[in-house]
Amino acid sequence: MAILQIALDVPLPRLFDYQIALDPGVSLRGRLVKVPFGPSLKIGVVVAEAEVSDQPADKLKTAELLDDLPALPADWLELCIFCARYYHYPLGQVMAFALPPLLRRGKMPRIPKAKPCAVLPPPTFAAATPDQATAIAAITGAGGFKTFLLHGVTGSGKTEVYLRAIEAVLAAGGQALMLVPEIALTPQLESRVSARFPGAYVVSAHSGVADAARARAFLAALEGRADIVLGTRLSVFMPLPRLKLIVVDEEHDASFKQQEGLRYSARDIAIFRARQCDIPIVLGSATPSLESFHHATSGRYCKLDLPLRAVAAAMPTVATVDTRKQKLQDGLSAELISAISERLQRGEQSLVFLNRRGYAPVLACPACGWISRCRRCAANLVLHLADRRLRCHHCGLEMAIPRACPDCGNLDLQPFGRGTQKLEEKLAELFPAARILRIDRDSADTPKKWQTLLAAIHAGEVDVLVGTQMLAKGHDFPNLTLVGAVGADAALFAADFRAPERLFSQLMQVGGRSGRAQLPGAVLIQTEYPQHPLYRALIDHDYTAFAHEQLAEREAAGFPPFAFQALLRAEAHELAQALEFLATAVDAAERLASVDIVLYDPVPMRMARLKNRERAQLLAESHNRPALHAFLAAWMAALHALKTPRELRWHLDIDPQEL
Ligand code: ADP
Ligand code: ZN
Ligand code: ZN
Repeated sequence: MAILQIALDVPLPRLFDYQIALDPGVSLRGRLVKVPFGPSLKIGVVVAEAEVSDQPADKLKTAELLDDLPALPADWLELCIFCARYYHYPLGQVMAFALPPLLRRGKMPRIPKAKPCAVLPPPTFAAATPDQATAIAAITGAGGFKTFLLHGVTGSGKTEVYLRAIEAVLAAGGQALMLVPEIALTPQLESRVSARFPGAYVVSAHSGVADAARARAFLAALEGRADIVLGTRLSVFMPLPRLKLIVVDEEHDASFKQQEGLRYSARDIAIFRARQCDIPIVLGSATPSLESFHHATSGRYCKLDLPLRAVAAAMPTVATVDTRKQKLQDGLSAELISAISERLQRGEQSLVFLNRRGYAPVLACPACGWISRCRRCAANLVLHLADRRLRCHHCGLEMAIPRACPDCGNLDLQPFGRGTQKLEEKLAELFPAARILRIDRDSADTPKKWQTLLAAIHAGEVDVLVGTQMLAKGHDFPNLTLVGAVGADAALFAADFRAPERLFSQLMQVGGRSGRAQLPGAVLIQTEYPQHPLYRALIDHDYTAFAHEQLAEREAAGFPPFAFQALLRAEAHELAQALEFLATAVDAAERLASVDIVLYDPVPMRMARLKNRERAQLLAESHNRPALHAFLAAWMAALHALKTPRELRWHLDIDPQEL
């Protein structure tokens, strides 16, 4: 009787042995089974088969094969196994995450009868530019695993390169996987892909897709019926038997790294997959992550450049406005105000970018010093005047605005600082005749609202846009000729060493919204540090100079990509408990006597309290990735064996993006 080794969705880094009543005579690897586990039944995946078990035969329970569910392919199992090993996360939980919810519960979606595809003539397109042609030839001629970094400014025709490479793959009978940051924000891309390949079966995969549709998409991919999978980070786990190309658009985007549960980087997993399938992968960006740029300059990745915009539009002119020398009107400089006013006279659109939503970041009492704090987090409650609430942006706690100071009864509470709502109010006051539209996660909190707002912008019903980075993502606003950035300086001196990289990329992206069609664009950045190298590089459109400067700083400081990091985080009701666990973890690590590993002291997280839990962290670092992972494997085994208080929770974050 065969023993099945089964991965189950439980937080234990091991497989579980079961027997099967009837030996089917064929391998059951990759099959889904239902098994008794404790008092309940669980769905699991058969990962391996064995002749014998460590468990006595009479203790082995029996697994039931789920006959109508297809087997998961071997390379999908390998992908999950790699992920479990690299992120030191239980395999059963990796698989539970990678499977669509319906299959995870052992259910099969109803599959509608496929309707025959209309055979349409392929649409015709303009010839590729010489730079595009070089890139397309390199990708289609790769002949196996190769990582390309496609570096091209906004509008340089990167998407066009992806589409032509995908076209070649489809013509050869292959499947393509295209990962994008947030599909809800880029409906234009979905329609562009479908329009380009009218005969192809294009599957969308993102968190907005309902359970049944998600399971159907998974099966269509697994059975090889889907030609193109277009999706967010989750779709990196789609089984694709004929996979011949992977594209990661906006590869620098932070949303490719999941920040909870399985803390994986979809970009990094995608690169593993390309190697596994021996196929090319294209990472595209106007502002590549410094990790990818470093690999491209050191020769590990092949760099492809699109330095010019595809259609004859010049890059916008970028300038700084020195705000030290003037009194601002609610954060707006005279230069920015007069630039907006010029656009209004010419009937063109302007955009004011401020990456802080709400009316003001805090409400305060000038009489006694009271400020609006969240009682569950180490954070302020943000004032939202649009719906008259105080709201915590970290835990969602909200309340009505108090009429008087809760501490001293003073009736004159004052907002401090500014957010998008306040800017909107000020712009309306300065330009009473202008049509002003605010776009942030409050005004566009559903994909539907977002579509409506976008349609209004495109229909020319808006003169001035105010918004957060939501506006920076892949949209063409042909009539937009001015972008003003307000409050950018805050990120220059932030504690996180990645803050300048994010700021540069945001400003470059949001600036790229301006002057996309026939009208020249301008970008004005308000700053107290007009000589800062980051802004100088933006003025020169010189990502490369910025990247080299940042990489030199990182190398001197020994930060990634010159070191590999893992972060052990712990949280508990009391900070002392979290720190004590981390101190025990340090002891355990020291007993492992690992060379090449640097362990930093346990410290409270920068925002120590979140949702009433106190959080602390411990950084482990090494210049040697295999050494780090060997250490982590042994360390995790030791930590899993520890008895910890019930309310203490901990997790490991590999290649953390936020320290
Ligand atoms: P990116 O993805 O780099 O922002 P896109 O691929 O979206 O750039 O191209 C920007 C614009 O230029 C699009 O409107 C696209 O249709 C157009 N375009 C791209 N390549 C060409 C080309 N070779 N000839 C003419 N127009 C092009
Ligand atoms: Zn008071
Ligand atoms: Zn809170």
